Amino acid sequence: MADKQRIRARNIDRIDTGPRFREADAVRLNRIFRGSDTHEMMDVLLREKMAGDIAIVSSFGAESAVLLHVVAQIDPTVPVLFLETGKHFPETLAYRDLLAERLGLTDLRNLTPAAEALADKDESGLRWSYDPDGCCDIRKVEPLARALAAFDATITGRKSFQAESRANLPRFEMDASDAQGRLKINPLITWKPEDLSAYIEEHNLPPHPLVEQGYPSIGCSPCTGMVAPGDDPRSGRWRGWDKTECGIHVPGQDDGELPPGYDPAF
Ligand code: SF4
Repeated sequence: MADKQRIRARNIDRIDTGPRFREADAVRLNRIFRGSDTHEMMDVLLREKMAGDIAIVSSFGAESAVLLHVVAQIDPTVPVLFLETGKHFPETLAYRDLLAERLGLTDLRNLTPAAEALADKDESGLRWSYDPDGCCDIRKVEPLARALAAFDATITGRKSFQAESRANLPRFEMDASDAQGRLKINPLITWKPEDLSAYIEEHNLPPHPLVEQGYPSIGCSPCTGMVAPGDDPRSGRWRGWDKTECGIHVPGQDDGELPPGYDPAF
């Protein structure tokens, strides 16, 4: 309890212009919630505002309904950030609207690329075909970075089973993409595919319409292909490119690992 009070007190101290959270806070939060289930953790976290101003980053992809439902049951006013890249499947946009209505999400924010950036760097709209990193930069990374400046923490839907790079992520970590000291929260990190399926069934959550058409991982339409049964679910993403995530490379992180958090499920 003393730990919770210390973190909460820090959250409301708006005079401090330093980073909102530090690595020690993430370590402390991991310790506080060790042994708590996802719902208990999120309930305390949101109701006691332990993470300050918080947002969900959602792709409204194949498994997004679970995280959105978990959060909406506690607080449907939590801002939901959606990267409206201009390259989504129409099915994804319809699914976004369906879920927002069904779950009662009251603050859905569509993040669009800057018009100048599109005009300067992707006038043809085909940058994805010859420079997907640059395209993701314009359409995902920059808009998200702008939006995240207003938040102290983000909630992602990443799961450890999704990729080797996600296998050892903790529930709480620091966002290393800038110096703001933003917390990144991965409430579903320990969930297995069967946990997701059971939750979806229990709460009768609608599936993304493309899943049954062979798209287990859904991003922008030019960069998402069908996947054969039994293959890596993300193998349909950026097929033919040495690219597995849509994030940016952070100076100082030279191990080739992309910064965690920019890929909630994209
Ligand atoms: S996923 Fe593809 S289309 Fe979407 S922003 Fe990245 S490169 Fe562009």
